Amino acid sequence: MKVFDMHADMGTNFYERQLNGEKDVFRNYNKNNLNEGEVRGVFTACFFEGREDWDYMQKMIEFCNQEISSNSDVLRQVKSREDLIEDDKTLAVISVEGMCGVRDHADEKVEWMYEHGVRVASLVWNESNALANGWKQDPLRGLSEEGFKAVRKMNELKMVIDVSHINEKGFWDVISTSERPIIATHSNCRKLCSHQRNLTDQQIRAIASRGGLIGLNACAHFISEDVSKQTSLELAEHARYMADLVGVEHIACGFDYMDFLIGDYSDDMAKDMTNASYTQNLIRSLKEVGFSDEETAAIAFYNVFNFLKKEL
Ligand SMILES: [Zn+2]
Repeated sequence: MKVFDMHADMGTNFYERQLNGEKDVFRNYNKNNLNEGEVRGVFTACFFEGREDWDYMQKMIEFCNQEISSNSDVLRQVKSREDLIEDDKTLAVISVEGMCGVRDHADEKVEWMYEHGVRVASLVWNESNALANGWKQDPLRGLSEEGFKAVRKMNELKMVIDVSHINEKGFWDVISTSERPIIATHSNCRKLCSHQRNLTDQQIRAIASRGGLIGLNACAHFISEDVSKQTSLELAEHARYMADLVGVEHIACGFDYMDFLIGDYSDDMAKDMTNASYTQNLIRSLKEVGFSDEETAAIAFYNVFNFLKKEL
């Protein structure tokens, strides 16, 4: 069954490996696993951890565009709803994780991002930046003036706002400011796994009531505190919990596979979801916890596809 993954750090992988002198990064590190896992749509995240400047951000985003277009025989970049076509190509949506390089003139820089294909972005990763604060920072510090400006500009351009990683005050600032639905591309339920990267019931309800989406994250530490339960089956239980709370239509996938990145992250993923080639294990687990074929297809692919059809 085909899947849309709302979070894979492929933009970062393309750029960092290219800086290391590697070529054909998509073909060498991503293509086969995506195919094997039936991942037919992906947000190719350009990830920034906090120290990168605007120049670095621009270069990575530009390179992500180049890598996607040089693989246009198998990838279709999604910039508008007209690009959402179901055929043999894998849909690629450029996303940004953490806008630390945006230190001033947020509206102009958001506009540049949009012009360069970015359709989804989060204000912040785990750090504090000029716009917002990540979950590791002071929980009472919300968006800056520049942060509010960025949210308004993103709304105006219909760039989707991602709230995974932001701290709680920032989350509620985005909720009260954004006039469009927001998404958490890769976050699970705090009720089932008490990690601050996961969403409280109140946050899940707030995203859902505004027509947004939440992506199931296959990172072990966000699935369970019990190591023996860090599996696709327990991740499916997060989907079950969210579906009971707000309805199946708000649940999607955002696995955050890290196997293709430079560095060793092999212990960070669910035992049976270590890379994109194992994605169908989640599909089996979703059925095992009681989702119908139609509900599973919605969680796997169509909730994201239909959301983008409406929002872009
Ligand atoms: Zn992340």
